[in-house]
Amino acid sequence: MQLDPPHSAATALAHRLHARHQGATAQALIAAAVDEPDLGRLAVVSSFGAESVVLLHMLAQVAPDLPVLFIDTRLLFPETLSYQQEVAATLGLTNVQVIRASNLTLQAEDPGNTLHQRDTDACCDLRKTRVLAAALEGYESWITGRKRFQADTRSDLPRFEADGPRVKVNPLADWTADDLRAYIETHDLPRHPLVSRGYPSIGCTPCTTPVAEGEDVRAGRWRGQDKEECGIHFVDGRAVPGPAPSARQDTNDAPQLLKRA
Ligand code: SF4
Repeated sequence: MQLDPPHSAATALAHRLHARHQGATAQALIAAAVDEPDLGRLAVVSSFGAESVVLLHMLAQVAPDLPVLFIDTRLLFPETLSYQQEVAATLGLTNVQVIRASNLTLQAEDPGNTLHQRDTDACCDLRKTRVLAAALEGYESWITGRKRFQADTRSDLPRFEADGPRVKVNPLADWTADDLRAYIETHDLPRHPLVSRGYPSIGCTPCTTPVAEGEDVRAGRWRGQDKEECGIHFVDGRAVPGPAPSARQDTNDAPQLLKRA
């Protein structure tokens, strides 16, 4: 197989792990990822959104102290912030790390918190993509909770994929909405309070609206805009090879990292 430099090592590892763990359950995949030396330093990235609790519950069974990176854009619903604390406490997650753009950066680039009204790509880049890119500098691979059914842009999502120099593990890639609902009910897991109020997918307050019956689960995200992803996994709405855009803040203005259980 022809592999593209300079990140052929991550691509080769993703292919190897895919072959090695074919047929494994999501739970087995998470356990294997935690124990897999080739993945190196590993973190989970979670939005503590509508379905995040499934992946986090599986993680808590095998590695409750694995770093869980939670991006606080400072424009999240208050319900998400309280749900994050509730889920961490309920599941016994001991290493949730809240990551944010620094005050200095926000003051310079979005002093009135209105950038999302003019340029959602720039706002997501400022509040999410660069913050995560900086946090991931400390890791060689990461686990996500993305699923194929969530969007057309995710329909081919593999369980292992190269993301620049890192490998991303997507244990729930082939799970359906019914699978998730059943898992949550079986394990009596806490639900995000906005789900029962018509939000099947939850992002920032200004960019998330309720979804009507029959609409796509992500129809309420950036409603009316030609935008489906925040740029963490895609750039400008398109899947791109290579790493997330590198952090642009100077070294005296690093994104903030707060540890919270
Ligand atoms: S979802 Fe909206 S408010 Fe949140 S970072 Fe992106 S553009 Fe900004």
